[in-house]
Amino acid sequence: MDNDNKDLEINEPSETAEGSLSEDKDASKTEDAGKSDNSAYEDVCFVCRRPESKTGKMFRLPGGICVCPDCMQKTMDTVSQFDYQGMLNGQNIPTDEELRKMVEASGDSDNDSESGKGKNPYNSFPNFGFINLANLQGMGGIPNKQKLKKKNPNAKPLIDIKNLPAPHKIKESLDKYVVGQEHAKKVMSVAVYNHYKRVATDSMDSIEIEKSNILLIGPTGCGKTYMVRTLAKLLDVPLAIADATSLTEAGYIGDDIESVISKLLAAADNDVEKAENGIVFIDEIDKIAKKENSNHRDVSGESVQQGMLKLLEGSEVEVPVGASSKGAMVPLATVNTRNILFICGGAFPGLEDIIKQRLSKSNSIGFGGTLKDSYENDPDILSKVTTEDIRKYGMIPEFIGRLPIITTLQMLTKEMLIKIMTEPKNAILKQYQKLLELDEVKLDFSDDALEEIADKAMELKTGARGLRSIIEDYMLDIMYEIPKDDNIGTVTITGDYLKGKGAPVIGMRGIE
Ligand code: ADP
Repeated sequence: MDNDNKDLEINEPSETAEGSLSEDKDASKTEDAGKSDNSAYEDVCFVCRRPESKTGKMFRLPGGICVCPDCMQKTMDTVSQFDYQGMLNGQNIPTDEELRKMVEASGDSDNDSESGKGKNPYNSFPNFGFINLANLQGMGGIPNKQKLKKKNPNAKPLIDIKNLPAPHKIKESLDKYVVGQEHAKKVMSVAVYNHYKRVATDSMDSIEIEKSNILLIGPTGCGKTYMVRTLAKLLDVPLAIADATSLTEAGYIGDDIESVISKLLAAADNDVEKAENGIVFIDEIDKIAKKENSNHRDVSGESVQQGMLKLLEGSEVEVPVGASSKGAMVPLATVNTRNILFICGGAFPGLEDIIKQRLSKSNSIGFGGTLKDSYENDPDILSKVTTEDIRKYGMIPEFIGRLPIITTLQMLTKEMLIKIMTEPKNAILKQYQKLLELDEVKLDFSDDALEEIADKAMELKTGARGLRSIIEDYMLDIMYEIPKDDNIGTVTITGDYLKGKGAPVIGMRGIE
């Protein structure tokens, strides 16, 4: 390894354990000189591909390979778990002579000086092959340096402010798909309009228009995801939907936080500029609330909130192109999150109690408990939420601060559920009607049938999400039987049929 020793360098001489590797001052000088020649570039970690500005000083290994302290630590941790003794007791330990032949055959003469004297490092790892990672550098064309910035400052913005639909137009379009939730639709339309106006004018530098990231609070199945999906479609911007429960602090099992940006990049067909104007929806955000009384490191709660701060605010992140995780072979792109609209959504179960508690406290000071009952049974109590309540719930203030727009969605009522089944452009009943229309059969639902389905969905307490499965259950027989008989012209589903008390009303062709 003599040839490579000059590259073995440790940046912090005080880190004694690893410091024993080697410290060649001349070599570090040449490294530094190389760096200043090439100041637009910086070293990236060979394992996690993060640049040195993020990871802190790298360990420099032979062949110009850099490894960040985190990855080095992880490697050490992994290696220290090996059962060396067990391995040494293996049956197939090659002799030194065999090893020397293997080494010579592989053309690697670096170890000649040590072989044959019982000191060969291969002896400690029987049946393990070692490769020189540096050899890979040239082979796969893996870049050792990454360009930091690739933005063209003269590039035209993708969004034209003149073509931006006004808030009332955005809401009108939303109305065609999303039933009810009037306030949320209004708030979202204005927020999205302002956000893209800010992006289009790019006036961040003169008068800073604050980024309008949004927090959507509402029970499950009330249309949070659906509304965001519809918005992204209307505005024709890429959308990434992520689940906060799957996110963990970088380095732990789960997706790290930046993976949401690579999802967005994938949704934008790997077009960085398009992705930078996209929308990221992070669902189940309440699941990363700070956990109380936890002695463990909270890798999926508070630290995920901490990790998201930079993304929400606007920062440059390096994300793998065309893959979900960073690996040595994956090319990276730099995405600036400054213009990405982040929408977080969550059901926040238990938040109502916190709101009620606050309201009852403030009332007990003045007018006593007279008002207490009024909000005890208020179905719309969520709309009285304040940032203080959300903080109490376990979201850290910095996080809440980066979601300046908070809006709540209501629990869907029976009437809303019926409307959802029948009214939107792609309502589920319309879809079934269309399907049967292809067989030239007219499908109808009686009012009591609609109520029956809505009642069932209310029982499930999964909002509109339960509707499809309920309807699909009932429709299975219909979809199976009707095409059998060419004479059937109309089918009406009645409440009695759904209750199992009768058959659907069938009308034959030509008989009215
Ligand atoms: P969540 O609030 O849990 O994100 P979703 O948005 O995923 O709920 O809703 C599930 C499904 O229910 C959607 O795909 C949509 O079809 C339907 N849905 C929910 N709420 C509405 C609504 N207000 N208007 C129309 N459809 C809705």
